[in-house]
Amino acid sequence: MKRLVHPRRFVQFYLVLVTCAVILLLANYAAWCPEEEEIKAGQDLLETYRERIREADVTINQLNAKLRARPSLESIHKHQNEYIPGLPMIYLITPTHSRLEQKADLVRLSYTLLHVYNIHWIIIEDSDIKTPVVSNFLKTSGLNYTHRNVKTPPEVKLTDTDPNWLKPRGVLQRNAGLQWLRETALKKKLEPAVVYFADDDNTYSMQLFEEMRYTRKVSVWPVGLVGGLRYESPIVVRGTVTGWFTYWKPQRPFAMDMAGFAVNVRLLLQHPNAQFTNAVQRGYQESTLLSGLGVMLSDLEPKANGCSKILVWHTRTEKTKLKNEDKMKQKLGRGSDLNMEV
Ligand code: UDP
Ligand code: MN
Repeated sequence: MKRLVHPRRFVQFYLVLVTCAVILLLANYAAWCPEEEEIKAGQDLLETYRERIREADVTINQLNAKLRARPSLESIHKHQNEYIPGLPMIYLITPTHSRLEQKADLVRLSYTLLHVYNIHWIIIEDSDIKTPVVSNFLKTSGLNYTHRNVKTPPEVKLTDTDPNWLKPRGVLQRNAGLQWLRETALKKKLEPAVVYFADDDNTYSMQLFEEMRYTRKVSVWPVGLVGGLRYESPIVVRGTVTGWFTYWKPQRPFAMDMAGFAVNVRLLLQHPNAQFTNAVQRGYQESTLLSGLGVMLSDLEPKANGCSKILVWHTRTEKTKLKNEDKMKQKLGRGSDLNMEV
């Protein structure tokens, strides 16, 4: 039988084919394998992108930090002065008197007030003059304020050695605040608005101001750390105030602390003569004003979740003892610099 292909030819043909394939492979290798320069360029490009990613990471971190940062005092001040239409104003009447701790107390209170919208601070110094300490403090406070002064006459003024309960404090100052408010309200429309008597050394929750803002007549709530108790509070039964949780003189018509109520400004205008007085016995300031405003127990609007939450504390700042000032004089010949405002 005649063979189609001789085996030797087949082997020859196979070898030629394999050789051609190898030559072809080698010839193409150069084309498949990029030049060294191209490799370098690729690596450079990669590095450029890596660098851009690193830069983007830095920017992201910076933006994150900015987002989390506290707003600057300047931006808080700007914010404070924005009047929000339709939101009732809060007029805060604060008597204040000169003492070593005064500025510290005022700074602390002002930082609370900076968080409250539509608030106007009426601050009345128990002094013959508007002192530089308070004037300068108010100028830089970023708050809306009115600054007045009236001195408590010596016969009713508490002295350094008197126990603090002996005489009423801040009476003429609160009355001066009420007077300003009434006069201003007659000149321009202030309503809807509410007035609150805020002593300069108490502690106020921001929430308290939102509770009082929509007072129709008089709103009330508990006060912490007062009256020798953990707190004092109106007693609320089915949404109505029926009496007072207080140890001391519960028979008072309104047996609560000054920090425990706020009044609608309209009520002040309807009763133009209602005010505080130095002529009543201890603990009757609040009752004097509210009785003068024709308020009944049934008028009281319990706030702070039906008087179940403490949002204000009658804290008192400890009197600083300067026991080392004299020792310092003996030791170094001089005490601390009296020109330094504390
Ligand atoms: N006050 C005042 N003149 C004084 C004493 C006090 O104007 O001679 C102010 C004081 O700065 C505060 C308020 O009246 O805003 C109540 O006084 P204080 O805090 O001493 O009273 P307490 O804490 O004993 O109720
Ligand atoms: Mn106080």
